[in-house]
Amino acid sequence: MFKKVLIANRGEVAIRIIRACREIGIPTVSVYSQADAGSLHVSLATEAYCIGGNESSKSYLNIPAIISAALISGADAIHPGYGFMSERADFAEICREHNITFIGPSPESMQLMGDKATARKTMAAKNVPITPGTGIITDIEEAKKSAEKFGYPVIVKATAGGGGKGMRVANTPEELEQNINLCRQEAEKFFGNPDVYMEKYLVNPRHIEVQIIADKFGNVVHLGERDCSIQRRHQKLIEEAPSPAVDDETRKKLGEAAVQAAKAANYEGVGTIEFLLDKDKNFYFMEMNTRLQVEHGITEMISNVDIVREQINIAAGNKLSFTQDDIKLSGHAIECRINAEDPDRNFLPAPGEINGYITPGGFGVRVDSHVYSGYKIPPYYDSLISKLMCWAPTREECRRRMYRALKEYVITGVKTTLPFYQDLIENEVFISGNFDTGFMNTYKKD
Ligand code: ADP
Repeated sequence: MFKKVLIANRGEVAIRIIRACREIGIPTVSVYSQADAGSLHVSLATEAYCIGGNESSKSYLNIPAIISAALISGADAIHPGYGFMSERADFAEICREHNITFIGPSPESMQLMGDKATARKTMAAKNVPITPGTGIITDIEEAKKSAEKFGYPVIVKATAGGGGKGMRVANTPEELEQNINLCRQEAEKFFGNPDVYMEKYLVNPRHIEVQIIADKFGNVVHLGERDCSIQRRHQKLIEEAPSPAVDDETRKKLGEAAVQAAKAANYEGVGTIEFLLDKDKNFYFMEMNTRLQVEHGITEMISNVDIVREQINIAAGNKLSFTQDDIKLSGHAIECRINAEDPDRNFLPAPGEINGYITPGGFGVRVDSHVYSGYKIPPYYDSLISKLMCWAPTREECRRRMYRALKEYVITGVKTTLPFYQDLIENEVFISGNFDTGFMNTYKKD
């Protein structure tokens, strides 16, 4: 096992990782920006180092500072969490050069799956279904011809994209031309790579993703699916597991496709294969996230697998501690992402000081968070306050438990998305389970 793990992240995910390390018995090293000096991830770690200024580019994305902290503290592994360095193949490569284990896949499989167009090609070659689409667009007239062939609408995507950025839907050839140009500019700006491709835009599919976990010995196991169809601007708002739209037969097929996808990439570590599911239960590979995901906790609740602990375990070179047959999914779990945002002002970020904080509790309720009463939410990073997760034997019991927990939760001093979720969880369409990624386009408070 590792002697010491450095966590190259902040917020709730840094704490999630510290907790797993503590339970295994590994000392931890936190790194932090000046703005995060008062953060819980700093006080909970065995030791902590300030690595730079407030902007992420000066701290959590500052490779020389992170590596120096690892070398000074004697950490032999780095956990990148999600976001920041988690999908940077160059960072994984630099860790390797310094004999530090990057807790994640190899730089080679990150590169392969991190580039969406290459990932699609790899999947198609292994007969994993993908949406009809093109490779990197080099000629706009050719792209227009392809779009005619697939039929509008189509979606232009940055091959290096993520987080809902660098994606634009086009309904006409004129829009297509315009969006290719806009996407290229955005892609260059956000991801440093202007390449874009295009695929058929499915009208209101469901977003279904499968959690996989793979060791260095070729064992790949899936932990079932999550449904992340409730989105705003292609960003997830609520996740649940299992999906109300997936029956046992489709689950089996999805699981097999996900395992095949992971094997095709020679993948090791934890990862998520994202699919779109249409009304006829056809599913299409969309992308792979080569890291721990925000919503991993709901899969932990229905599978009883500690995903982070297992991730550290396999990164240290151990065999997966279970096989596919050992995995028995049970009950239902839902997650709400509670953000410091004002739902009445178009989800405008609302950083500031939390002056009152009471968390919900009780059987089947989990709150993963880094905040406390008196905590100042800095304006420099994402606005996540906490992930509220509930488990119950059935979906309806879980939904009611979530409503109860949302009503118990008190956060004062900053605007939050709590009232938004309290309404949404009681919405008839949400209750029915019969929704898709178009849900928020028509959603109105009851
Ligand atoms: P990102 O990597 O930025 O998260 P994704 O490729 O995962 O982007 O897509 C995010 C969301 O965009 C999906 O969950 C889905 O709602 C929508 N989307 C992406 N591709 C398509 C498509 N071909 N058809 C319909 N919706 C899509």
